[in-house]
Amino acid sequence: MLSQVVELIEKKNNFAITTHVRPDGDGVGSSLGLCWLLRSLGKTAEVIVSDGVPVSYQSLPGADQIRKVTEVDNTYDAIFVIECSDIDRPGIAGLRDQFTVNIDHHATSDHFGTVNWIDATASAVGEMIYNLCKAIGGRVTKEIAECVYMALVTDTGSFHFPNTTDRTLKVASELVKAGVKPAQISEAVYNSYPWSRIELMRQVLNTVKRDPSGKVAWMRQTLEMRVNAGMVDGDNNGFVNIPLAAKEVVAAIYMRETAPNYFRVSLRSKGEINVAKVAEKFGGGGHKNAAGLRVEGDWDEKEKEIVAEVIKAVKYGDFIDIEEMELSLV
Ligand code: 5GP
Ligand code: MN
Repeated sequence: MLSQVVELIEKKNNFAITTHVRPDGDGVGSSLGLCWLLRSLGKTAEVIVSDGVPVSYQSLPGADQIRKVTEVDNTYDAIFVIECSDIDRPGIAGLRDQFTVNIDHHATSDHFGTVNWIDATASAVGEMIYNLCKAIGGRVTKEIAECVYMALVTDTGSFHFPNTTDRTLKVASELVKAGVKPAQISEAVYNSYPWSRIELMRQVLNTVKRDPSGKVAWMRQTLEMRVNAGMVDGDNNGFVNIPLAAKEVVAAIYMRETAPNYFRVSLRSKGEINVAKVAEKFGGGGHKNAAGLRVEGDWDEKEKEIVAEVIKAVKYGDFIDIEEMELSLV
C-alpha cells in the first residue's frame, strides 16, 4: 500500500523502474514521472524496459535516457514494476530475485511484488504517482507533471473513457498548473504519427466485421499488413476504439497476428459490458472496458471463440445461436 511505498523510498537510495513490454503512455509516463520524483528526492533512479519507447512518448523529459535491457544488469535497492499483472510482463530476466514494488491500477494484479500498491480506482498509474508525490511531500516539478499528464491523457482516452473521475480531472488541473501544456502533449500523442499508421488503418479497417445485431465488431491485423504498411511500433495505437465510434457498437475486438498462429487481442466495451471477464477466460486481464489477451491456434477458430464470449458478455448472446452466427463470419 501507499504508506509502505513512501517508507521504502525514504529508506532506500538506488532504484530502477520498469513497465510492461510494448509500453503505453501510462507505462512510460508513470515510470518517467516516478523516476523524476525519486531524483527530486535526491535518490538515484533509472528507467529500464525491454522494448523501445514508442515515438509518441519520446518527447517526454527523460525518455532519451530510458535504457533497453533484457535482464537486470545492475544492482538496485528496489525495482518498481509499473502497470504489470505479473513479474513476467516486463520481459526482463532476473526480476524475481529482486526487491520489487508492484504499482498498478488493475484489479487483476497477482500481487507478485515484495511490496504491492494496487489502486483499481485510479484512472491511470500516473494518478497514483501524483498521489505518491503528494504523500511523500515532493514538489510536482514540470518534468513530473509532463510525464504524469501523458499517463492520464493516454489511459483515459483524452479524458473521455469511463475511468475519468473528478480526481483525474483535479490531478490534471494541478499538472497544468505545474507547467504542462495540454495541446503540446496531445499533438505529440495524436498528431505526430508517420504515414504508415494511415496505411495500416486502411488495411485493418478493411477487415472489420459485425455480428447480426451490429453491437459487436471485430477486425484483424495480419503480419503481411505490417510489412505492406511499413508499420513501426505504436502505429496501431487506439485502432481497437475505432468501431466504438458507431453508436450501436458496444464492444470491439482487435486481433493482431504476432507470429503464424499467435495473436494478441485487444477488447474494448462501452458502459456496463465487462470485457475484462472475457479476457480472463483466455488467460488475459485488464479493466471492465479495456482488456487484452494472447491466444495461440487457428485464427478463424480463436476469433469465433472470442467473438462468442464477447457476445455473451453483451447479454443478447443468449438469444443468438452460435452456429447460425458463424454463417455471418465469412
Ligand atoms: P491493450 O488492448 O491496450 O493492449 O490492453 C488493454 C488493457 O488490458 C491494459 O490495461 C492491459 O494491461 C490489459 N492487457 C492487455 N493484454 C494483456 C494480457 O495479455 N494479460 C493481461 N493480464 N492483461 C492484458
Ligand atoms: Mn494504465
